[in-house]
Amino acid sequence: MAVPKKKTSTSKRNMRRAHDALTVDQATKCSNCGELKRPHHVCEACGHYDGKTVSSKQES
Ligand SMILES: [Zn+2]
Repeated sequence: MAVPKKKTSTSKRNMRRAHDALTVDQATKCSNCGELKRPHHVCEACGHYDGKTVSSKQES
């Protein structure tokens, strides 16, 4: 089995992990109600997606 010859230094390890941070999805406005929604997700406020009602949240 291939084994690293030297222990990775704290500095090198942290340099590698410098690009590992997660990013938050950019929220956009719902075209129907204007509420902030996540892209490619059904609007949680009115249940619309792509100009159509796809969830029955609005009727209840
Ligand atoms: Zn909406």
